[in-house]
Amino acid sequence: MQQYLQNKKGLVEEVFDQVYSKYDLMNDFMSLGIHRFWKKSLINIMNPSSNKSLVDVACGTGDIGKLFLDNTRERSEVICVDPNKGMISEGKQKLSNYKNIKWVNSAAENLPLKDNLFDYYTISFGLRNTKNLDKTLSEAYRVLKPGGRFLCLEFSKIQNSNLDFIYKNYSKLIPHIGQLIVGDKKPYEYLIKSIEEFINQQELIDLMKKNNFTKCSYRNFSGGIVSIHSGWKI
Ligand code: SAM
Repeated sequence: MQQYLQNKKGLVEEVFDQVYSKYDLMNDFMSLGIHRFWKKSLINIMNPSSNKSLVDVACGTGDIGKLFLDNTRERSEVICVDPNKGMISEGKQKLSNYKNIKWVNSAAENLPLKDNLFDYYTISFGLRNTKNLDKTLSEAYRVLKPGGRFLCLEFSKIQNSNLDFIYKNYSKLIPHIGQLIVGDKKPYEYLIKSIEEFINQQELIDLMKKNNFTKCSYRNFSGGIVSIHSGWKI
């Protein structure tokens, strides 16, 4: 996966430049709305209390930030980070009623943020797109407070061979749905390839541990189509 991305410099930027205006709509179509349940599950696992701070990296249009603020009745703060200006401007429009939210235009590998700032770090369907997993995880660790929690929602490896067969066939339809909705299937061919080539659940745990996270664990959802990884900075 990393090699695939390194060989295709600029591809990820290009992909999200093409899709940002229809990103939310496409997410609903592709996942049949289930991405909402997965994202809610991440916030349920986090179970945040008031007066906490979150940095949501690869925030896209801000779904995780919104859920976090809703969950804490806006008595909390979120910084949403994404390198794609189009995504950020869609997010700003979508969440214009929310006060405790700031937007930062940056990549995950080099955050323009001080050390030990946040109670939570989230990355939802973003880790797969970064060019350097180790750098992303070490930056996550750096910006978390001691006692802070890392949570990652990402596509993962399906555990059941029948479900895997169905999912692989369904995946072949996704570029065609992209052609219909966004007018281009290439971004969605990238999406499928990046999911196939991404590391598995245990490999991500190993990388988290290598980057100093402790009490690392994961939970599969929808048979492992996605998983939520959790780790702590202690
Ligand atoms: N987190 C949102 C969600 O769950 O709906 C958006 C996920 S979207 C599939 C992936 C996002 O990763 C895009 O907004 C893209 O701009 C962003 N991205 C791409 N490369 C990145 C990088 N190196 N660092 C941080 N974000 C990146």
